[in-house]
This record gives sequence, structure tokens and C-alpha cells, in this order.
Amino acid sequence: MPRSHVSTGSTPIRLPVRTCVGCKEKAPTADLLRVVVSRSGGEPQSFDCIVVPDAEHRLPGRGAWLHLDRTCLHNAERRRAFGRALRVPGAIDISAVDAFVERRVLPDEKNRQQH
Ligand SMILES: [Zn+2]
Repeated sequence: MPRSHVSTGSTPIRLPVRTCVGCKEKAPTADLLRVVVSRSGGEPQSFDCIVVPDAEHRLPGRGAWLHLDRTCLHNAERRRAFGRALRVPGAIDISAVDAFVERRVLPDEKNRQQH
């Protein structure tokens, strides 16, 4: 019974996979939106942190991953999943991510209605 290799079917391309903070499902990073914390260095505001979309995966720092889906966004918001994933306590402003998701989601819905 010597088995040097455990083969579970050949998948030559291994895509990086992350977990969506909204629905907790794993998905390729290409299907997810990366979000990062952008701390406002200025005056204290009503929010401790601002979370911004990082569509090009270039911003430094700890990121969280989310489907471009309003349901996932709202689930993440309700469960305070952003705070946990990004390790930030306190109130988080996700309006920038919200706006980004709205912009990305709406064209799809328009297309669906045309068909
Ligand atoms: Zn999701």
C-alpha cells in the first residue's frame, strides 16, 4: 500500500480561494471583492474606521473578502463580520463598499429585465 501521491482528480490550475465574510462560502478571489480598512488620520468621526473596496487588490493591510452581492454585504454588516475579519473594534463605515456593490449589482439587474 505505498502511496506516494494522493490523487483527487487532476486540477492543474489552483485558484486562490477566500471565504466571503457575508455567507461564509469559499470562492475564487476573482469572484470576490476585497475590502480593506482605511483609517482616517484626521479628526475623530462618528465611525472609528472606514472600509473601502479594493477592486484591484493593491491596497496594503489586512483585507476581507465579500461577494459582490447585497445579501452578503448586509449579512456581513449585521453580524459585524467586517470588524472581526479586519480586526477592528468599534463602529465601521461601510458606505463606500455599499456604494461599490450597488454600482456593480445594478447593471446586472437591468440586463435581466431587458431579457
Ligand atoms: Zn457571499
